[in-house]
Amino acid sequence: MPRFPLPDLSVEGILAGLRSAVSGIEFASFEVGVSSASTDDKAKARVSSISFLSGAMGKKHDANNFDLYLIVYLDRGFVEATPQPLHIYGRYNKFSREVAQTFHYCFRCRGRGRGCRQCKGTGKLSDNSVQEILEKIFIPAFEAKESKFHGCGREDVDVRMLGNGRPFVLELVEPKKRSADLDALEKNVNSTFGEMAAVHGLRFSSKSEVEKIKNAEFSKVYSCLCLAGGIMPEEAVKKLAGRKIEIAQRTPERVEKRRADKERVKQAEITSAVPLSGTEFRLEIRSSHGLYVKEFISGDNGRTRPSISELLGVPCRCKELDVLEIVLPGENGVSGK
Ligand SMILES: [Zn+2]
Repeated sequence: MPRFPLPDLSVEGILAGLRSAVSGIEFASFEVGVSSASTDDKAKARVSSISFLSGAMGKKHDANNFDLYLIVYLDRGFVEATPQPLHIYGRYNKFSREVAQTFHYCFRCRGRGRGCRQCKGTGKLSDNSVQEILEKIFIPAFEAKESKFHGCGREDVDVRMLGNGRPFVLELVEPKKRSADLDALEKNVNSTFGEMAAVHGLRFSSKSEVEKIKNAEFSKVYSCLCLAGGIMPEEAVKKLAGRKIEIAQRTPERVEKRRADKERVKQAEITSAVPLSGTEFRLEIRSSHGLYVKEFISGDNGRTRPSISELLGVPCRCKELDVLEIVLPGENGVSGK
């Protein structure tokens, strides 16, 4: 956090400190705090700061909803200015099986030093992510320090996110700019990175929407390219179409370390089943919130029952997975339940 020294502790000194602290920062509203051992000085400094910023500078004092938070440290002789986060809502598509949703440090070296063999020296879990792609455009546009990416759920790195995309909120931390042409930024992202990812429907959002999308329950439509361990009769595959299945799913082995091992009941509807070659077939599955679909295909060593492997009597696995649609409650009349 940059600190702007107070030339002296007089009212003029405080205003000079404030003037340099807010220079180059775009804000419409503010709040001021004062740090001092003297209650009297504190009150006086606050009153003159507020009247200066709202009077001479024409900004709005709003203690509940402010763009900029200023602290005048009378005791330490400087002013600190912290722009509040800015939130942008949109939906993203991910067209690559090598791009993750968010930035993550390598699990092994945690990004320290020069990385490790696991991450090929990058220090990162995946080379690129939707978050990093957006940062390249949004961080300079808003002169932000960094970003936080809040997705309405997530998909694995090797899963594409197609269709209408997945809702997200990009949080820009300490932005010095708060206005921009979001349509132009959207076009910039899509023309520069369109082979890997795209965004649409961008609009300014709020912290409360972050909570909303993080807690949303939704159903999903998947397209799964499945590979069977033996030749599959076409009829057996075709018979799966139209089936509605209640599934008892224990936490998959691959995520067991991160989530408590527990059995959950989920629903899936196989909306289409198309044989491709002797061992490959494609399923379209509409699943309830939180179904691990790869494990629904494989059976996860009996931890997901029934599974496609069990229904067909042949071990199967998901070779390629795409999310075709995220269906939020109230959309298309289908809820996540
Ligand atoms: Zn590493």
